[in-house]
Amino acid sequence: MHSENTANRKTAGPWVDIDLTALCENFAMLREAAPGAETAAVVKCDAYGLGLAPIAQALATRENCQTFFVAYPEEGAQLRAALSSSAPEAKIYVFNGPLPDTIKIFEEAALTPVINSAEQAKKWASRKPGAPCALHVDTGMNRLGAPVGELAGFAAMSDLNVDVLMSHLACGSEPGHAKNSEQRDAFAHSATLFPNARQSLAASAGALMDPSYHCDLTRPGIALYGGSPFDVDDARIKPVVTLNAPIVQIRRVAAGETVGYGATFTATAPTLIATVALGYGDGFPTAGSNKAVATIAGERAKIAGRVSMDLIGLDVTALKTPPQVGETAEFFGKSGSLHAAASACGTIPYELLTGLGGRVDRRYV
Ligand SMILES: *Cc1c(COP(=O)(O)O)cnc(C)c1O
Repeated sequence: MHSENTANRKTAGPWVDIDLTALCENFAMLREAAPGAETAAVVKCDAYGLGLAPIAQALATRENCQTFFVAYPEEGAQLRAALSSSAPEAKIYVFNGPLPDTIKIFEEAALTPVINSAEQAKKWASRKPGAPCALHVDTGMNRLGAPVGELAGFAAMSDLNVDVLMSHLACGSEPGHAKNSEQRDAFAHSATLFPNARQSLAASAGALMDPSYHCDLTRPGIALYGGSPFDVDDARIKPVVTLNAPIVQIRRVAAGETVGYGATFTATAPTLIATVALGYGDGFPTAGSNKAVATIAGERAKIAGRVSMDLIGLDVTALKTPPQVGETAEFFGKSGSLHAAASACGTIPYELLTGLGGRVDRRYV
């Protein structure tokens, strides 16, 4: 019965299917949610683990995305190379800004820094007087950016050309949180010092909140990749990533026997366990042990025992159709949301995606 294809999959490891059409639909949805603003794409951390070049190229060619954000200048240089034919004029902003030993990368790859301190501003303005930069004002995150009280000093620097003034919401995951409107109002006040700069406040959450958060430029990341930026699922966002693992063994376990390291699962009745090729070495969190579920041919099966480095056991006893070696278990994607999988593992969609390891094959569909 087993085709050669199935036989091949027996020895294969985990993979993700990355739906580039859904990615582009999410970009279009975010653009329509904030119609007065330009929509940029945040592609830091290898486009949230999905692959910088294919993601950026799809957004540039299919959706004409022309503005990108990364965290490090090295990421910006990689992105510049990836976009050399599809979007050679793209603007690439680098959140972490220039350091003395990275400023050359900014020049070589035509990157635009996001300035976070007076020191960075002085360095940039003296090295490249009048060259555009973004300025990050910290309105309450207390992480990165210039304090609101110091902004007048930046505005007074004649060689500093701030083309985007940006800030970042600390509590975007909870749209009703009082801190959101406080930050928005502090940001609007700061912006009066930079009348020529475009304003950017919204990441995914802000872009999906009311128009007072949209400003001139939105910077979504996670929603592009199918993750909800909120503490709940958001039906506007289409699933992009499906995590799959092949079943490598089926075993019968008698009542009273245990499964996996530490014997954390005990069979209370005769139990059927499907062992799949996926583990914490691939970025699947051990916190999902005995909690997270997978879907096999449309039926749900919970993890039995501890997640180990390369393998996970699934309790498939109750499945109507007993699964076979070579079949696929899906951990999130079309059958169950990324958000639900992350919750079951005590984490967030961002961490689950960016944690996907190098053994997980990225397949673009
Ligand atoms: C990562 C990041 C974003 C994107 O955030 P999402 O929640 O993934 O949309 C936007 N702005 C800044 C400053 C960031 O660090």
